[in-house]
Amino acid sequence: MSEEEITQQMKRLLYLIAEYSKLDGKYGVLSIKELPVKTLIFKGIRDNIFDYDYAPQSLMYIDNRRYLNVSQEGVDDLEDLRELGYIQKIRLATKRHNYIYSYSLTPEGIQYLQSIPIDDKNAIDQFINCTCGNLYDIVVLPEDVVLTCDKCNIKINTEITEIEDVKYKSAPAALKTRLTVERGVENQ
Ligand SMILES: [Zn+2]
Repeated sequence: MSEEEITQQMKRLLYLIAEYSKLDGKYGVLSIKELPVKTLIFKGIRDNIFDYDYAPQSLMYIDNRRYLNVSQEGVDDLEDLRELGYIQKIRLATKRHNYIYSYSLTPEGIQYLQSIPIDDKNAIDQFINCTCGNLYDIVVLPEDVVLTCDKCNIKINTEITEIEDVKYKSAPAALKTRLTVERGVENQ
C-alpha cells in the first residue's frame, strides 16, 4: 500500500486516533486501547462518520467473552495504517495475563496529519467532542461502552453491546450454508 491509496476513511481514522493521542497539544503522547477504538468506529458508522460494515464478533469484554458490534473493515484499515508506518500498535498485558493492544501515532503519522482535508478533520472533531469542547472519554461499563463528558454530566450509549436481532439470527444460517458448501452438498 502506498500513500496514494489512503482512503478518506483511513484519513478520518488516523485523525481520530491522533486526537486521542494528544496531550497538551502534542500528538503521539498518549495511546487509545483497542476496545475504545472499535467502539468509536462502530459509533462512527451509526453517526455516518464512517462507511463500514459491522457484524457481531465475540471479544473479551471486561472479564468475559461477549458479542459486540465490530467492523472488520475498520480493523483492516487500522492494520493498513500500521503497515504504512503511521500508527503504532502497543501490546499491553492485562491483570489476567491476556494481551490487549493500544494505538498511537508515529512521527510519520503526525507528519501526515497536515495532508488530511479540513472537512474530514471537522467531521471527526464534531463526532468526538462534546458541545463544550471537551474530548469525550470512552468508558467501558458492564452494560455498554459509553462516551462521557464529566463537565456536562453527559453519558452517551454507543450500543456496541446491542446485537441486532436480524443480524444475530442470520449468523447461524450463514454458517450452515458455508458448511453445506464445504461438504459439497450443493452439487448433489
Ligand atoms: Zn461537555
